Amino acid sequence: MSKKPIIFCDFDGTVTNNDNIIAIMKNFNPPGWEQLKDQVLAQEISIKEGVGKMFSLLPSEKKQEVTEFVLDQAEIRPGFEEFVAYTAANNIKLLIVSGGIDFFVHPLLEPYNIPEENIFCNGSDFNGESIEITWPHSCDGNCENECGCCKPSILRNYDSKAYHKIVIGDSITDLQAAKQADEVFARDFLLEKCKALLLNYQPFETFYDVIELLKEREEELV
Ligand SMILES: [Mg+2]
Ligand SMILES: [Zn+2]
Repeated sequence: MSKKPIIFCDFDGTVTNNDNIIAIMKNFNPPGWEQLKDQVLAQEISIKEGVGKMFSLLPSEKKQEVTEFVLDQAEIRPGFEEFVAYTAANNIKLLIVSGGIDFFVHPLLEPYNIPEENIFCNGSDFNGESIEITWPHSCDGNCENECGCCKPSILRNYDSKAYHKIVIGDSITDLQAAKQADEVFARDFLLEKCKALLLNYQPFETFYDVIELLKEREEELV
């Protein structure tokens, strides 16, 4: 009996070519954001704390300006539309698991008809003076990293005996999920980490590559 394939696909730097949070911060450049970014990278503060504090540097009244900017600059990685269609046609469950924020993740994914309940990301509240990030998918009792949107917790919701878990991603924020996956499709930093840790991985650049990898597995997985 074969296991059911399920894909956990990162958003920033994977579905989109760039990291949208970094693009927002670079463009609006609120004083102090770079120190926060450096602290996150040095693992002095959690991703949750860093992202929350970065957005708190931006006034809520900039909501429209920030939203328009991020939607305008984001580029979707080639083959994504075909990839979503391929998973739907082949009954492969596709979840988007993103440390990004709802106000750009949802509109950017809108054209692709991914069911809303399959999109996991952080939330936002523009009612206060500054932008507040909310955390509907926080870490479960088995994760102490304060991920914000906790990818390993989401993976744990699916029984490893029933599912063949594939993680697609690009960065440090995918690493803990990648360690739990049956298989990883990786690029950039995550690819180097997968090599170093001898995980079961395949490199990819575009979603056309991902489709080819899935086709190779078609018989064993579907
Ligand atoms: Mg990423
Ligand atoms: Zn976590």
